[in-house]
Amino acid sequence: MALDKIYNYIGGRLAEPSGGNYLDNINPATGKAYSRVPASDARDIQDAVMAAKQASKAWSQRSVDERSEVLLRIAEGIEARLDDLAEIESIDNGKPLKLAKSVDIPRAAKNFRFYATAILHYGSTSYEMVEQPAINYTLRRPLGVVGCISPWNLPLYLFTWKIAPALAAGNTVVAKPSELTPMSAYRLSEICMEAGLPPGVLNIVHGLGPEVGGAITSHPEVKAISFTGGTKTGAEIARVVAPKFKKLSLELGGKNPNIIFDDAPFDDMMRMTLHSSFANQGQICLCGSRIFIQSGIYDKFKETFVKGAKRLKVGPPADKDTKIGAVVSEAHMNKILSYIHLAEEEGGTILAGGQRVIVPGEYCGGYYIAPTIIEGLQYHCRTNQEEIFGPVVTITPFDTEEEVLEMANSVRYGLSATVWTKDVSRAHRMAARLEAGIVWVNTWLLRDLRTPFGGVKDSGLGREGGFDALDFFTEPKNVCIKY
Ligand code: NDP
Repeated sequence: MALDKIYNYIGGRLAEPSGGNYLDNINPATGKAYSRVPASDARDIQDAVMAAKQASKAWSQRSVDERSEVLLRIAEGIEARLDDLAEIESIDNGKPLKLAKSVDIPRAAKNFRFYATAILHYGSTSYEMVEQPAINYTLRRPLGVVGCISPWNLPLYLFTWKIAPALAAGNTVVAKPSELTPMSAYRLSEICMEAGLPPGVLNIVHGLGPEVGGAITSHPEVKAISFTGGTKTGAEIARVVAPKFKKLSLELGGKNPNIIFDDAPFDDMMRMTLHSSFANQGQICLCGSRIFIQSGIYDKFKETFVKGAKRLKVGPPADKDTKIGAVVSEAHMNKILSYIHLAEEEGGTILAGGQRVIVPGEYCGGYYIAPTIIEGLQYHCRTNQEEIFGPVVTITPFDTEEEVLEMANSVRYGLSATVWTKDVSRAHRMAARLEAGIVWVNTWLLRDLRTPFGGVKDSGLGREGGFDALDFFTEPKNVCIKY
């Protein structure tokens, strides 16, 4: 039976890739191809950029109310297709259907809703000078054509987190989802057509990173790049765009610490720590993969955590009691397993998981890994320094704040950190000294879309979220009028 085909969305129409080439789109829960994704190339990006350029003037000159209305219709379109989108997201990515339905797809709609309304309240500053009477005011203009490139772990969620502010600010967009999880972006093309988004305002081109992503980043007409993905790819993109002086926003990898003090609210902390360790198979950039536990509760923590992890059901993403679905690809599964092997070589003890899980029946070829807990490693070993991006965590005891801060801050990354304590003063001290763009205290992944989102050190450059994203997608121009 012929597999369903995905199409590019260029100039308001669904289009085959210029070269006519396609890649298999694999369902990671079964290991089998279930659709075909365009293997586009620089010609498709050229078409997309030209379509975006042509649409740019009219879109930028629409009133904010008009732009807002179109974006709200897209949000409604996503909400109306919640069940369908959740199902395809789960099939594409391997994540539990329940998670896609409760988190990924609602958040994608919320991204559009948030920026459709944020733009109505977006202003700029003015400064009055008294000594030499004059007024300065700042115009904020869209950049023109911008590029948005996103990864596979939260496919529609992260794709729309970039596209929505870019469009709200009056830019036109050429976007590339990960070729591993293209289906929900394809459905978004259909939703945009139904919502009356003018042709060329958003263009979605599918294909491989170096070919399609590379053609976006190097295209002279693309004025800014908003990228989420791995640190290595981020460095490559920075190398390409820096000499062209494009605006650049990078949301990159993480190796986040989860720091648990003796006085932590134990039950809440345990429930959330199981979640922050293994949600989405540990494939969330914000997952806490290095868990530090103060010595007084180390043994109790270890016993309860290991029991809890062993209870998490690994299985087909569509099953209603599945907690851990499949990881995204065979290559990624092998990478995760190689890190587990490395941890053993480095002297770690596997307390839970540690191996691939074969789910019987039609899922036997799927890429499942048991939630894995490792103990006994030095904080500076590779397992504790490199991003694994899977259902794998290490646990390490500590005694003092100083000691845990040194271990927590020892990595090249600085995306997020979590602290569990009832001591308010300690919470403030830790939050101030942790090298991270985001610190959660007694919670995890509690997101207010108005706040700045991003990392320090090798976790990124710039901030998304709130008005920060609208600042990124506009260029300020100061006007000084003497009177
Ligand atoms: P990658 O960096 O491999 O890919 C991200 C996107 O970039 C994909 O669409 C990819 O295409 C594309 N790409 C690859 N090479 C190039 C290139 N040379 N030029 C332009 N684009 C390119 O990341 P993953 O998809 O593997 O995602 C996992 C990573 O994302 C993890 O490191 C994770 O921490 C990070 N991440 C960070 C977040 C944050 O907010 N800081 C949030 C979520 C994830 P293709 O898929 O075809 O290779």
